[in-house]
Amino acid sequence: MTAIPHRFLSTTAPQLPTTYNALATRYDNMPFRRAGRSGLLLPAISLGLWQNFGEADPIANSRAILRRAFDLGITHIDLANNYGPPQGAAERTFGLILNSDFRAYRDEMVISTKAGYDMWPGPYGEWGSRKYLIASLDQSLIRMGLDYVDVFYSHRPDPETPLEETMGALDQIVRSGKALYVGISNYSPEQTRESSRILRALGTPCLLHQPRYNMFDRHIEAGLLDVLKEEGIGCIVFSPLAQGLLTERYLGGIPTDSRAGKGSRFLKPESISDDALARARRLAALARHRGQTLAQLAVTWILRQPQITSVLIGASRTTQVDELVAGLSFPSLTDVELEEIEKCLKPGC
Ligand code: NDP
Repeated sequence: MTAIPHRFLSTTAPQLPTTYNALATRYDNMPFRRAGRSGLLLPAISLGLWQNFGEADPIANSRAILRRAFDLGITHIDLANNYGPPQGAAERTFGLILNSDFRAYRDEMVISTKAGYDMWPGPYGEWGSRKYLIASLDQSLIRMGLDYVDVFYSHRPDPETPLEETMGALDQIVRSGKALYVGISNYSPEQTRESSRILRALGTPCLLHQPRYNMFDRHIEAGLLDVLKEEGIGCIVFSPLAQGLLTERYLGGIPTDSRAGKGSRFLKPESISDDALARARRLAALARHRGQTLAQLAVTWILRQPQITSVLIGASRTTQVDELVAGLSFPSLTDVELEEIEKCLKPGC
């Protein structure tokens, strides 16, 4: 008999001993923003488990990050079927910690997952067919030990599957009670408008779009944000720190314990270019002038856009969460500061 691949197994055992009581102050300082034209409020900062929640990552650290985030008002946790490595591991790790620490807080949490990228062999293990999306969510629910997720996303557009099928699967998922809301990620403005039209006609409006957005990647300003506004879709942005480039992490070289230093295939040492470092240095000086760190400034800059529902950060340690949440209490950027940032971002300035 063929063994069931590890990533499809559930997380019901072993259990970690429970010792966690969330801080009573957890809602005191976190601002919440409405996701488009919906009833759902999300924290200004959400936590993503793409990195640092894989099989090789110490579970004590993953657990500490989740606890600290929740204690600071981060009620939204973002996952995907393929987060790890290996694929499925982040959902399994999260399932274990949820079971031990957060069961009593499930109704205070918004948990999302996605399907779209390569997950299992054969023609039904990726992209946007009804077959793949529904099977993948069933697997995710088992790995996390959940009856439903709050948000389920199509992780990327599928050029070969009719949009009606992908959106029809999202609608079916909500009607079957396996997700409360649906979203899309990495869709173009045109694909977003069409997806929104189909979903609205089906009676399951699109809650969120999840694109990349940071000071170094502003592609959503050229059309997508306008579409989201017109369609009443919220926007939760990923890689707000450009995976660490918009922090002080790389200004003195590549630390061995950093994402680029650990051999990530998503942030290679060659991405730490002289131009990126020069821009980061200028921005860091500007941040210091405001009393902020560069990472805090990067988040403040994104939240200047009222259309952004939430900034989806990653963290390898609790102190990063502390720093980013503390940055929310600084004043908004003035017009003069925004102009300064524009100048800092110009190549060779
Ligand atoms: P970020 O741009 O926030 O990068 C996070 C990394 O930056 C951390 O792991 C850490 O790296 C470093 N960092 C964070 N805070 C600080 C700090 N205060 N000072 C110094 N360095 C810091 O986001 P990610 O790229 O991790 O993406 C966030 C989430 O977005 C993901 O977990 C996932 O949920 C989602 N996502 C969605 C995608 C999609 O296609 N829909 C694609 C990618 C991400 P280090 O390890 O070096 O400490």
